[in-house]
Amino acid sequence: MIRCYVALGSNLGNPAVTVDEAIDALAALRGSILRAMSSLYRTAPVGISEKLRHQPDFINAVVVLDTRLSPHQLLDELFAVEAQFGRQRSVRNAPRTLDLDLLLYGDLVVDDQRLTLPHPRMHQRAFVLAPLAEIAPGLVIPGHGPVETLLEECRDQRIHALNRHA
Ligand code: ADP
Ligand code: MG
Repeated sequence: MIRCYVALGSNLGNPAVTVDEAIDALAALRGSILRAMSSLYRTAPVGISEKLRHQPDFINAVVVLDTRLSPHQLLDELFAVEAQFGRQRSVRNAPRTLDLDLLLYGDLVVDDQRLTLPHPRMHQRAFVLAPLAEIAPGLVIPGHGPVETLLEECRDQRIHALNRHA
């Protein structure tokens, strides 16, 4: 099996409930086993145009999946879960009920029409790096370096872990 990391994000409806339910959906994926999940994190929208900036905070998390699926099969399964949660694809960075990004598929490096690995923006996003560092300390992102070093470089991004039992 190949070790994969998947990022979840939601900022419409009840995003914490959506992310929890989406983690259950990932745990049920064919050919895959859910090995770990991070805390949920609340984060301000980043990298967003003026027009789209005034949208609710996101809830984010990262999970570890071991899978027998190919990278493109796994991406298709992630899109199917997004669709199951009612995601409408409009412009990039629009508010969304659920966004699932394949961060890493083992140490595979890919760049084709549908899939880029490692995920092209993961190394600049505290909302990916903080949950990733929680569940995979010391992980090295191919081409970018250790997760903790990358996280240190985005310390200006507002993010905090939710107390799941609050
Ligand atoms: P974003 O996640 O950047 O907000 P989208 O979820 O709308 O944007 O995805 C845009 C496109 O990114 C998708 O059509 C998908 O094919 C492509 N893509 C490329 N690499 C990846 C990856 N590693 N994980 C998820 N989607 C990816
Ligand atoms: Mg996406």
